[in-house]
Amino acid sequence: MVEATSKLEKAAMKRLLERDVTLEEIAELVYDLQEPYLDNLTMELCLDNVKAVLRKREVQNAVLTGIELDVLTEEGKLASPLQEIIKNDEGLYGIDEVLALAIVNVYGSIGFTNFGYLDKVKPKVIERLDSLKGEDEVNTFLDDIVGAIAAAAASRIAHAEPEAEEGVD
Ligand code: MG
Repeated sequence: MVEATSKLEKAAMKRLLERDVTLEEIAELVYDLQEPYLDNLTMELCLDNVKAVLRKREVQNAVLTGIELDVLTEEGKLASPLQEIIKNDEGLYGIDEVLALAIVNVYGSIGFTNFGYLDKVKPKVIERLDSLKGEDEVNTFLDDIVGAIAAAAASRIAHAEPEAEEGVD
C-alpha cells in the first residue's frame, strides 16, 4: 500500500493526537463493529482501514474543522450565541453530526447505521471524550468525528468483504 502522506493528512493526524485520540483507539471501535461479521478480522486490518479513511481529503477537512471549533470554543473565542451552543453541546445544534456525515459519506450508506449506533451507545473512546466534556474541555465535534471515522473504516472493510454484511441492513 502506498503511504504518501500529504501535509493535510499529517495535520489532521497531529490534531487528533493533540486531542488525546489515537488511531488504535479508533481501530478498536472498528473491530467491535465488524467482529460479528468477519472470522478473520484483526486489529491490524482495522488500523489499516482507519489510516485509509484518514487519507481522504474530505475526512481531513472535517477533522481539522471540527477540532478547530472545539479548541476555539475552549478558548472562548467564538461569538455568542455559537460559543455557548458549542460549549454546552446543545442537543438541537446538530452541526457536529452534519460535519461528521462528510466523513461517513465517503464509503456509502453502510456507514450511517454504524455512525448512529456509535452515537447512541458511545463505547470506549467516545464515552471517554463524552465524559471529559466540562468546564475546560470541549469535545462537541470530536466525539462525532471519532465515531464517523470508525463507522467509515467499518464500511470500508464491509465493502471489501461484501459477503460479510449479508443479512445486515
Ligand atoms: Mg457531538
